[in-house]
Amino acid sequence: MTIPSDTALNTVSVPDDFRPIFLKAQNYVRNYFSTIQRDPEKGSIKFSGERYILIRAASMSKEFFDMMMNLYKDRGEKEARTLSFNFLFDIAHSIGKADAKSFFSKMKVSDPIEKLSAGPVHFAYTGWASVKIHPLSNPVPDKNFYLIYDHPYSFEAQAWLDKGEKANFPVCVMNAGYSSGWCEESFGVPLVTAEVECRAKGDRHCRFIMAHPSRLKDYITDYSKKAYIKYEHYKKIDIPEFFKRKRLQDEIKDDKVHLEKLVQKRTDKLEHANQRLEEANIALKVILKQMEQKEKKDKENFLINIKQSIMPYLQQLEQTDISRGQQVLLDRLEKNINQIASPLISKLSSNYLNLTPMEIKVATLVRDGIVNKEIAQILNVSLNTITSHRYKIRTKLKLRNKSINLRSYLLSLEE
Ligand SMILES: [Zn+2]
Repeated sequence: MTIPSDTALNTVSVPDDFRPIFLKAQNYVRNYFSTIQRDPEKGSIKFSGERYILIRAASMSKEFFDMMMNLYKDRGEKEARTLSFNFLFDIAHSIGKADAKSFFSKMKVSDPIEKLSAGPVHFAYTGWASVKIHPLSNPVPDKNFYLIYDHPYSFEAQAWLDKGEKANFPVCVMNAGYSSGWCEESFGVPLVTAEVECRAKGDRHCRFIMAHPSRLKDYITDYSKKAYIKYEHYKKIDIPEFFKRKRLQDEIKDDKVHLEKLVQKRTDKLEHANQRLEEANIALKVILKQMEQKEKKDKENFLINIKQSIMPYLQQLEQTDISRGQQVLLDRLEKNINQIASPLISKLSSNYLNLTPMEIKVATLVRDGIVNKEIAQILNVSLNTITSHRYKIRTKLKLRNKSINLRSYLLSLEE
């Protein structure tokens, strides 16, 4: 059933230019809400076939705030209020967007102003508030969007007034969220609303400014210069931001990812440095080993030289007819030579000292793992000579009649 069209716009107050469009919207919305279908047996309420739910206004405003204040009293009034504020704003903003979308398709409108027009009328019919849009408004589909409007009978401010309590902050946060959600959907630009004056805190009206999130603060500052309330008051106005929590969480997540990348980069660098250090360490060990081997060889050569070039002459000298005094000097000489050599004499060398130079040569080659046949070739002697030298070496090292491998023994002396 279609009822006759209104000729007067009475659910919303708008600048004259917008009146025809809003009147059209008013007729559409009035029609839409004229057929109510209550079905308590099923627990269902429908307008024009669309299901709705009724919520007691005070439960979503004054009493919700009171409950949150009580729940978060340990965190202070400011935080409790911010939590309630963000929660209600986000919910209402989402509902506003969804309702708007649904109406656009039902009304078959595409122009932003036509889309906007159903919002305030819908607001009036669903009991949130009536709307008065001021002539200074500039509803355009870009960042310059500016809407200044009042909600003369906001359900939220009413809940406070009915309880006889005065708020110290603007309370109409769902109104702010819903209207900005509807307009955001209408104009396709992000929009937020701040309530700059509120009847619940004793102001003359509930007044809102809606703008792009990056412009809202500037618009509030401009407005405060013209308003009767001191500017100090406006500095304290919270600028709601749709799903601020989500944005903060995303920022934290981004920071975490960035940190993880940084840590990975540092770890890679450290691993690289570590690898280079290990390589340098290996090179150093090789050099040290070579130095040790050279030092050992030098010591051996030094001792062999003493054996070959000095000791035989001293022994020959002893056999000659020398005086008692000369004998004392000779003993002294032998003792001093031994003293000079002693710091260099390791376990190995001291054992070698008992060997003849030829035996030392053979022992060194045995220790290095050269077989008898090869030793004979190297030293240019017969295999029998080598066998004989080996026998003498074993005797001098007291290995005779013992089942000890000569090479293993010589190697063990170096340890
Ligand atoms: Zn208010």
